[in-house]
Amino acid sequence: MLNSYRTVLFDLDGTLVDHSNAARAGVIAWSQELGIPPDPARWQALEQQWFLAYEHGKLTHSGQRAARVREYLHEPKLSETAALQLFDGFLHQYIASMQPFSGAAEVLEQCFDCGQLVGIATNGAASLQTTKLRTTGLWDDRLIMLAAVEMEAAKPNPEFYTRALDIVGTAPADTIMVGDTLPNDVLAPIAAGIAAIHVDHAGTGTTDPRYPTIRDLSELLNAP
Ligand SMILES: [Mg+2]
Repeated sequence: MLNSYRTVLFDLDGTLVDHSNAARAGVIAWSQELGIPPDPARWQALEQQWFLAYEHGKLTHSGQRAARVREYLHEPKLSETAALQLFDGFLHQYIASMQPFSGAAEVLEQCFDCGQLVGIATNGAASLQTTKLRTTGLWDDRLIMLAAVEMEAAKPNPEFYTRALDIVGTAPADTIMVGDTLPNDVLAPIAAGIAAIHVDHAGTGTTDPRYPTIRDLSELLNAP
């Protein structure tokens, strides 16, 4: 599936690492530390709401973190500094709970063995995303970090992919993107002339004839 491309781009959260379960475990532990009743469903809803606002350029990456903390803790007047300090407590627990999806290490290794360029195309910040890759044992010095915060463009903005390919130095036709979020990781790259594979770990998505959908990363492994 990946063989005929010079460059393979992978989304990170929900694609190579299990963001949802780590966020759930992280917010439960963090809430307990703060002495409040954990509400992972509410935290998830706040993340979806505020991260989407960040992706659409309505506030900064730090701003969406602070907004989530203020709402979750019912503290609308918290300063950004105080909210971000509290968010660090969540991050610590979140990172500690992070696990890779099955097949992630093998797929990355196969790409390197085939001499492909491998990028992490993520809407997160480079430092946190690198920490998550290291924690889960997926980090490799050959990975090219393409993080939205540092590139100052977030998926699905077409500029994200233009800048990413400039950094990697390959043409759209030589590139394939693998990711779990349809608008960001599949429809946006296809519009930019990049092939795409939808990763649907939960098996809840719809299939679209324009692109392949996989349930498990091991489906990307070449036949032995
Ligand atoms: Mg994702």
